[in-house]
Amino acid sequence: MTPYTPQIICIDCDATAAIWDWRCPECGGPLDIANPQPFDADRIDAGTWSLWRYGAMLPTDKRFSLGEGMTPLVQTSVDGLDFYAKLEYLNPTGSYKDRGTTVLVNRLLGENVHDVVEDSSGNAGASLAAYAGPSGIHARIFVSTTASAAKKRLIATNAELVEVSGVRSAATAACHAAAETTVYASHAWSPFFLAGQMTAAYEVWEQLGHRAPDAILTPVGHGGLFLGFARGFAALHEAGLVERLPRMIATQAAGCDPIVQGYEQQLNAPPVTQEEETIADGIIVNQPVRGREILRVIRETDGAAYRVQDAAIIAAQKMLAERGLFVEATSAVPLAALREYRHDFAADTTIIMPLTGSGLKGLPGK
Ligand SMILES: [Zn+2]
Repeated sequence: MTPYTPQIICIDCDATAAIWDWRCPECGGPLDIANPQPFDADRIDAGTWSLWRYGAMLPTDKRFSLGEGMTPLVQTSVDGLDFYAKLEYLNPTGSYKDRGTTVLVNRLLGENVHDVVEDSSGNAGASLAAYAGPSGIHARIFVSTTASAAKKRLIATNAELVEVSGVRSAATAACHAAAETTVYASHAWSPFFLAGQMTAAYEVWEQLGHRAPDAILTPVGHGGLFLGFARGFAALHEAGLVERLPRMIATQAAGCDPIVQGYEQQLNAPPVTQEEETIADGIIVNQPVRGREILRVIRETDGAAYRVQDAAIIAAQKMLAERGLFVEATSAVPLAALREYRHDFAADTTIIMPLTGSGLKGLPGK
């Protein structure tokens, strides 16, 4: 078999880009893989108990893994609302981001890239550090001084931590400057990262007995997990393995809700909103890189976008904890939205809610 070579193109203008360009050299738009590996159920490696069972569908070979993926799907109920919780916080670094990180890092290793930069509120940086350091990649990770102390410690264990003061976007600006000369291993921009997120859909499909749920609710910052699920089920649909796509529901905190505003105003692209404070610190993203695609997916799947207040998020986080599901506040945004908008869902709807990040990182340290 000829080795797989991903072709990188701009999703806005179709220009061709080099493999480690992080945005379109012509128009600055986000990049994508023009020739993704199609889903093929016969190529699932059923003996591999990590997301690498889908290795034949991923745009890289595996060189380093921490056993990511294959997270439990647990049926639970809150206020009489039944749903399946996908325990993404049980990934190796306590967040769903490990799915994207492992694919991106393995592609970097395959191309002999050993020096990268990244910016992160915490979870993506902690994930990249845990994969980069042990596999011989030096990662310089730009973080706001206001990021959680625990996440900063996790980053510093296996990478170079660069703290940037000011608003959250200041760390992003500093990272973009560094990306002029160093490969940008971006969880927000990299199409390899997004390819890894698609495996969450493949797992849910297997766990539900080879079918699609009716609806999937995720927190949305840049929308990596949201788009991963959407693209994953689209790949399953193209392969003829599911009859229809799940309704994709984006949920955001009222303090930073560009996707909800774009949805309510029926826009093609989200408006640039304020970066305000919210307890859901993992999704304070006022300019999502693939905002157009998120809004398009919502339209095409008869989905929706909901905003919730911090008080509702805190209440939902507590309810999850009382069911043994100990997650960070950002992960409770979808449950807060489901409780508030329950009348938008028929009683027998099969709902998937990924629980994205561990609550343990939020515990006070010493
Ligand atoms: Zn372009």
